[in-house]
Amino acid sequence: MKIRVLGCHGGELPHHRTTCFLIDDKLCLDGGSITSVLELEEILAIDDILLTHSHFDHVKDLPLMTDLLVGRRETPVRVHGPDETLRCLGEDVFNNRLWPDFRAIPSTQAPSIAFEQIPLRTKFALQGMQVTAIPVHHPVSSVGYILETAQGAVAFSGDTGPTEELWKSINATPNLKAVFVELSFPDSMQWLADLSGHLTPSTLCAELEKLDRRGAQIYLYHLKPSVSAELKQAVAAMGKDYLQVCELDDVYSI
Ligand SMILES: [Zn+2]
Ligand SMILES: [Zn+2]
Repeated sequence: MKIRVLGCHGGELPHHRTTCFLIDDKLCLDGGSITSVLELEEILAIDDILLTHSHFDHVKDLPLMTDLLVGRRETPVRVHGPDETLRCLGEDVFNNRLWPDFRAIPSTQAPSIAFEQIPLRTKFALQGMQVTAIPVHHPVSSVGYILETAQGAVAFSGDTGPTEELWKSINATPNLKAVFVELSFPDSMQWLADLSGHLTPSTLCAELEKLDRRGAQIYLYHLKPSVSAELKQAVAAMGKDYLQVCELDDVYSI
């Protein structure tokens, strides 16, 4: 599995892009940075987008992507997510007010995008992988994902504050290779992290105590741009060699 970091921040500034991981050139996990990074040919190669939740920093480039697809692909790009996430996108984004409904453009028979609701806690097949979505703790319906391939398993926390079920599911997953965990605010902003359902270095450490790591690498992402330098210092001070902060354009082979 090749994971390319198109965006790994919880907001946008120069040198900071919102969350999006491109997996094996075909699948995006979240859609925060697609059109802002990829060339047209790379965008046209994406068949599936897996959403963790509906927040803007995770769906930002989806509307602009659809505009590029019309008449360019044989099949619609499939947008997968929990029921509430897809309902939000349908009602609040692709509603023919904020943006045209590309589920019916150029036609309902051959649209540019198609929504596919995912099951929770039950494996489903996608791009040759087995995918499991586990609900996490955030102000809107949100999931983390566990992706399993013959080469090993990779998990993504999605946006979440302290949680339990995701760690139990990861611990029960064989051949764990990597876990991508959100880290958004410094300890000095713990109140905001608690209010908004995010992790700080302190709560991250407590969460990692729940993980049976088995040698897996931990990649940290979703750092808020205004505090990213401070957060990187805090991670370095933890002195744990298995912790790595994601950087834009990193590519990990798993
Ligand atoms: Zn976010
Ligand atoms: Zn969020």
